[in-house]
Amino acid sequence: MKHLFLIVFLSIFSVSTNYSQQNSEKKMVKKVIKTDEEWKAALTPEQYYILRQKGTDRPSEAGYTSHFEKGTYHCAACDLQLFESNSKFESHCGWPSFDDAIDGTVEYVLDKTHGMVRTEIICAACDGHLGHIFNDGPKETTGERYCVNTTSIKFVKAEK
Ligand SMILES: [Zn+2]
Repeated sequence: MKHLFLIVFLSIFSVSTNYSQQNSEKKMVKKVIKTDEEWKAALTPEQYYILRQKGTDRPSEAGYTSHFEKGTYHCAACDLQLFESNSKFESHCGWPSFDDAIDGTVEYVLDKTHGMVRTEIICAACDGHLGHIFNDGPKETTGERYCVNTTSIKFVKAEK
């Protein structure tokens, strides 16, 4: 019985090994741990729904989807720097899209909800839900598309 559990456990994890192996070599970020009540108090209802309850923004060209200023995108919950603006690209999918994350700031979790097998991306510091990663990104760079909710991030403009 114990064996069976281990096999199931390993097979679930082997799917996301590609991503997690990349992660293990990267620098560790300091964990931000709050209770559910503390998150509820710290975030807007919309942020709480997306970041803590794994909600999804409606697809839109608003928010950060078509936003291409120079700067950095931080986690809206804990302020960890997640994405540089030079990783951002126009995907026409209705969500902000990046072809890479800042080293070690994003973790990858197998997500089998909604009848699909996807890889969820979460903030490495606070475990906040960011979105999902897909392999249909720009072929000339990483080939990956970090599909991120506008609500999960906040933009900080680069200083000149
Ligand atoms: Zn965070």
